[in-house]
Amino acid sequence: MMKDCLFCKIAKKEIPSDIVYEDEDFISFKDINPIAPLHLLIVPKKHIPSINHLTPEDKELIGRLFLVAKKIAKEQGVAERGYRLIFNVGKEGGQAIEHLHLHLLGGKTLSWSKY
Ligand code: AMP
Ligand code: ZN
Repeated sequence: MMKDCLFCKIAKKEIPSDIVYEDEDFISFKDINPIAPLHLLIVPKKHIPSINHLTPEDKELIGRLFLVAKKIAKEQGVAERGYRLIFNVGKEGGQAIEHLHLHLLGGKTLSWSKY
C-alpha cells in the first residue's frame, strides 16, 4: 500500500469504484473515462509502479494477471468477439497512474491506429 496512490486507495475501498471482479490479489473496475463500450482496468493490489518496475519476484503474479483478464473477458461476454489488453508504460506510453494496471477494451471493433 502506497499512501497517496489512487489505485491503492481503490483497492482498499477508500475511494469508490465500479468493481466487476475482485480476489485476494487483484481488483478490476470500470475505467472512469471509457474509450470503448467495455473499458476495465485490472489492477494487482500490490503497488508496482509500472512494467518497468517488475522483478522476477512478480513473475507468478503477472502470469495470474493474464488468467484473471481471460476470466473477466469471458464473464463480460467479449471472449469470443475479441478484445484488447494494454499496458501503458511511462510518459510517452501514456501512463497517467503510477500503479501498474492492465486495460481491457472491448465491445466494438477496435482500430489499431487510434484508440
Ligand atoms: P493510464 O493512462 O494507462 O495510466 O490509465 C489510467 C486510467 O485510469 C485512465 O484510463 C483513466 O480514465 C482511469 N482512471 C483515473 N481515475 C480513475 C478512477 N477514479 N476510477 C476509475 N478509473 C480511473
Ligand atoms: Zn498503488
